[in-house]
Amino acid sequence: MTTANFANPASDLVPGGVEAPLVSLAGVAKTYRTGEVAFEALRGVDLEISAGEMVAIVGPSGSGKTTLVNLIAGIDRPTAGTVTVNGSRLDLMREEDLAVWRRANIGMVFQFFQLMPTLSALDNTLLPMELARRGSRRSRRVDAGGLLSAVGLEDRARQLPAELSGGEQQRVALARAMACRPRILIGDEPTGNLDTETAGSMFALLRELNENGTTVIYVTHDLGLAALARRLVTVRDGRIVGDAAADRQAPTTTTTTTPPAVARPDPEGRT
Ligand code: ADP
Ligand code: MG
Repeated sequence: MTTANFANPASDLVPGGVEAPLVSLAGVAKTYRTGEVAFEALRGVDLEISAGEMVAIVGPSGSGKTTLVNLIAGIDRPTAGTVTVNGSRLDLMREEDLAVWRRANIGMVFQFFQLMPTLSALDNTLLPMELARRGSRRSRRVDAGGLLSAVGLEDRARQLPAELSGGEQQRVALARAMACRPRILIGDEPTGNLDTETAGSMFALLRELNENGTTVIYVTHDLGLAALARRLVTVRDGRIVGDAAADRQAPTTTTTTTPPAVARPDPEGRT
């Protein structure tokens, strides 16, 4: 794995040297309306996440986890309250500005990968760079190739998603998420569709990204994977009911609750 490809040298200090939280939600509520019916998916959420943190979000199905990360990602806006991420008030931004902001600040990995089926692994990784017109055409291709190497897929660059295993597709999704060097990587159950071993190798990549300076926020159902974050936020019925430093296991420690920490993806990419 070429760690340099994941380097993310963003400064976390604001002028004056005071560290501001990278993510700040205050009094956030989100109500979904379906015809006459209103459903409060989030109510009274306050949350601050500092640059460099690795945060796991857990909670029962339907508790509001996806709604919460979508607000942080600027995919959705709150019904009430303020959402400030990397100095921008997302709750005040227009849709079209949010799309541009999101491309520059957020990398997203979803449970079902959501790769473009007609594009190769390389072209999927290139797509966000092309939309953002990042660098020259040539430098983009080199960069995308580097990201695929970082996730152990240098020899799968020309394959279509359907020709890749689930674990490989998710690694392409991670390379694509990192294409514009976002400060924040968000995973919404990024390992929810992978077997335990593949999930462990995906998780090792997330941790490596975090160690290289990217703030990582991920939703998971797997309490073993949640325990590997530095901080555990628990959501229930649209509220944060727990927020604590996680009992983070050292990478070398193996217990029954810790999935195998795979330092390097299987070069054959089998899952
Ligand atoms: P989780 O990710 O924890 O499973 P979600 O944030 O997806 O929970 O959803 C929280 C609640 O909000 C659920 O009850 C869900 O049915 C509801 N919900 C989510 N999205 C919508 C939507 N677009 N319209 C109506 N209700 C929604
Ligand atoms: Mg969800």
